[in-house]
Amino acid sequence: MNRCVFCGGELKKETVTFVYEDDDRYFFVEHVPAEVCSKCGEKTYSPEVTEELINFGRQKCKPLKTVEVPVFDFEEKVC
Ligand SMILES: [Zn+2]
Repeated sequence: MNRCVFCGGELKKETVTFVYEDDDRYFFVEHVPAEVCSKCGEKTYSPEVTEELINFGRQKCKPLKTVEVPVFDFEEKVC
């Protein structure tokens, strides 16, 4: 049984959505195999999976779909 490096909680194999964020570029990768800490929720990816995720960032693949994402600003509320 693997343990979380941050809190020592139990890691469970789960399928998650990876969120990439870099300056003004965002994308999601759905159905990514990860190990998720049952205590703090920290996601851990295997080296193979991490490499794949980096490849998505290099835009070698076309996205399956594009969604519109609402962006709020905590300090600049528009109500
Ligand atoms: Zn943890």
